[in-house]
Amino acid sequence: TGRYVLTARELSVGYSGNPILEDLNADIERGERWALVGPNGSGKTTLLRSLIGQLPHLGGELSWDDRLEVGYYDQQLEDLDSSASVLEEIRSMDSQPTDGKLRGFLAQFLFSGEDVFKHVGQLSGGEKARLMLAKIIYAAPPLLALDEPMNHLDIASREALEDALTQYPGTML
Ligand code: ADP
Repeated sequence: TGRYVLTARELSVGYSGNPILEDLNADIERGERWALVGPNGSGKTTLLRSLIGQLPHLGGELSWDDRLEVGYYDQQLEDLDSSASVLEEIRSMDSQPTDGKLRGFLAQFLFSGEDVFKHVGQLSGGEKARLMLAKIIYAAPPLLALDEPMNHLDIASREALEDALTQYPGTML
């Protein structure tokens, strides 16, 4: 794998020919953590989605490491199956580990004891957000693209996510 996960040259991003941000240059190196900071409506989501190829860019060049896989989190939480339990959601990604091992992983995201048997449909917004983040992190993609991951989370959950991200070996936007 190369040194750069992603490079942008004179990139412009926006919608239907109207740029929101222009002339962006970036070299994102493997293992780096980048934060996109700005007021609401300034184009953070637009830029993030453009950088990972979810939204077509309007101009300039974007190049990626060929094998790049991205774990994208956008607070939509629509990838969860409401009839599945918390444990089943993680199990659906990996049939190998024992329940004990998966429950140990889920405990890092504050699902402990009987919590893992709760159904997705019964979870609060914050619990769903935590489960979605747990799934993305469990998949361990080389690039995490997280759009306002702290939204919906209480302080304990924010601290748990901070711990998980601190230990994460991949690149992060
Ligand atoms: P941020 O993430 O910084 O809050 P966004 O990237 O969501 O900002 O939005 C930047 C601008 O793009 C805003 O003016 C917003 O109204 C506009 N915008 C967002 N989504 C679309 C869309 N699908 N089509 C057209 N304009 C959009």
